[in-house]
Amino acid sequence: MNGTPEMDSNEGRPMIADGDIPACRVCGNVQGNAVHVAREMMFGLRDEFRYVECAGCGLLQIAGIPKDLGRYYADGYYSYGQDGEGGWLRNFMKRRRFAHASGSFDPIGWALTRKYGVPAMADWARRARIGRNDAVLDVGCGSGLLLRQMRDAGFTNLTGVDPYIEADIAYDDGVRVYRRAIEDLEGRFDAVMFHHSFEHMADPLAMLRHASRLLAPGRFALIRIPVMGYAWRTYGVDWVQVDAPRHLFIHSVRSMEMLARDAGFTITDIVYDSGAFQFIGSEQYRRDIPFTDSRSWFINPDQSIFSPAEIAAFAAKADELNRAGDGDAAGFYLRKN
Ligand SMILES: [Zn+2]
Repeated sequence: MNGTPEMDSNEGRPMIADGDIPACRVCGNVQGNAVHVAREMMFGLRDEFRYVECAGCGLLQIAGIPKDLGRYYADGYYSYGQDGEGGWLRNFMKRRRFAHASGSFDPIGWALTRKYGVPAMADWARRARIGRNDAVLDVGCGSGLLLRQMRDAGFTNLTGVDPYIEADIAYDDGVRVYRRAIEDLEGRFDAVMFHHSFEHMADPLAMLRHASRLLAPGRFALIRIPVMGYAWRTYGVDWVQVDAPRHLFIHSVRSMEMLARDAGFTITDIVYDSGAFQFIGSEQYRRDIPFTDSRSWFINPDQSIFSPAEIAAFAAKADELNRAGDGDAAGFYLRKN
């Protein structure tokens, strides 16, 4: 994550237009926008949030950014208190936090990386033209796990920023992680990456403009995000990647093209990297099973409602969707003009 969730910077565009339906924060469209109500299902709070599907650019966005958004992240959830299953859930979260060492914790991000891995580093490093000695910035990096994996793979100049970690971290291997927002960073980088952090940020255009400010001309920003497609059309508000209210923007290719253009980038590549996650999570939400429920495959795979054969079929379906350009997650490669 990055930016300030409380803020709703919108470059002067009105949040509300045409009666009660908010205008699109990326393309400004009002006509024909649809409102959907999605529930908080990671923790199973089931609080309801309005999302607007833009008829102009296809973007899905939260109608208004909650003032108490921090409550819906793990730390806020702890302090909010929880009875009943809370003890079990707290233990689960503690184990997961231990794995991450520090930093803002996103169980879905964790599941994506732990269960499916990030796409082969060699592939995205090649597409983003990242050389071994290039200066790399990871925005919303948490404790810097991915940067440390890059260090192990031979990359040498690695920096991360995340305003939600407890303190700066200087690893022995040279990786540096700063408790800072991208807005407050100076310097010149050869690559700027957002790995499933961009969708949590309140002002995506401003984030891309900061990425551009920090990049050398001709170099790349890599944005890995959930994207609109088959899973949205199939599951609607039960799609696990709506992840209300944490995901503020779920982009379409069109909305990413507009943002990229406005921030001075050209999209050179879109690589779909969705996995079985989209089906497992969404099928569970459709059956009212939260992500952190004891019946959830992510918690107790042995007690899951899915057979191993079904999980394998989900993975095969995801591969098929990726090949068709219709998976629910993708990496966008943006070259600075
Ligand atoms: Zn739009």
